[in-house]
Amino acid sequence: MTSSATGPATDADVPAWVRSLGLPGLVDIHVHFLPDRVMRKVWAYFDDASRHYGVEWPVAYRLPESNRIEVLRSLGVLRYAPLVYPHKPGMAEWLTSWALDFGARVPEAVPTATLYAEPGVTDVVASALDSGARCFKVHVQVGAFDPRDDLLDPAWGLLAEAGVPVVVHCGHGPVPGDYTGLDVFEKVLSRHPRLTAVLAHAGMPEFDTALDLVARYPRTYIDTTMVGTPFSEAMNPLPGDWPARLADVADRVLLGTDFPNIPYEYATQLRAIASWAAADDRLGDDFLRSALHDAPSRLLDAN
Ligand SMILES: [Zn+2]
Repeated sequence: MTSSATGPATDADVPAWVRSLGLPGLVDIHVHFLPDRVMRKVWAYFDDASRHYGVEWPVAYRLPESNRIEVLRSLGVLRYAPLVYPHKPGMAEWLTSWALDFGARVPEAVPTATLYAEPGVTDVVASALDSGARCFKVHVQVGAFDPRDDLLDPAWGLLAEAGVPVVVHCGHGPVPGDYTGLDVFEKVLSRHPRLTAVLAHAGMPEFDTALDLVARYPRTYIDTTMVGTPFSEAMNPLPGDWPARLADVADRVLLGTDFPNIPYEYATQLRAIASWAAADDRLGDDFLRSALHDAPSRLLDAN
């Protein structure tokens, strides 16, 4: 087996493995950076994961912000989208200004933004776009709002028009929310079919439906975040024909990881993706180059 087939054994092996594919580095569309006190709350939530999710979830990269930036650099992540998301009204605007600032001060980070279904959301989105936001995050489960809410309709329209990608956590994993489910989010897509939508976690656990949406909406993508790792396989296993089905939509698969809030090494995600590439002749190294670099790079740099 070649190294590209098995993937990097540890984080230390990532840069050499990426170079062996002929890539200058990785582009990750789904990582998280948050203001310190918000990140501490998120980590406290994961400390209590057995109560929330029924499994232990030891955060692997629980480090000061500057060290986390350094870890991504040492892994050769050339560009990433640091995603923020509100869990209640009144937070989206200041989280967005924090994320825009983070994108301005960290060279590898693109400026990002978020939104919440609340009055004024259209202005928040318009102003974030004016300020150069190149990726949005919408968290339907944590936000517990309906993505079909009339309040959001103009915001989806602005995003579709701008061609700025929106990473949407709308699947039922790791726990269902009031408005999770790809059938719910599909209503947004059918109303805004030009939206550049990235189905976070490949729609986990509705993987088949996610691929159907990608096939039907040419601007819809999936990200790989936590998908196919041993941790996720124990709870939400991929269908057996996953690599074969990916082959039909290979150019719309994007590297995402959930760094730093993952209960395993970054390399673990890359091994999962490498195993799909090795399982179908139509994927192989071309698929890896697309998913790990070319496709996410196109989306993050295009706008
Ligand atoms: Zn995430």
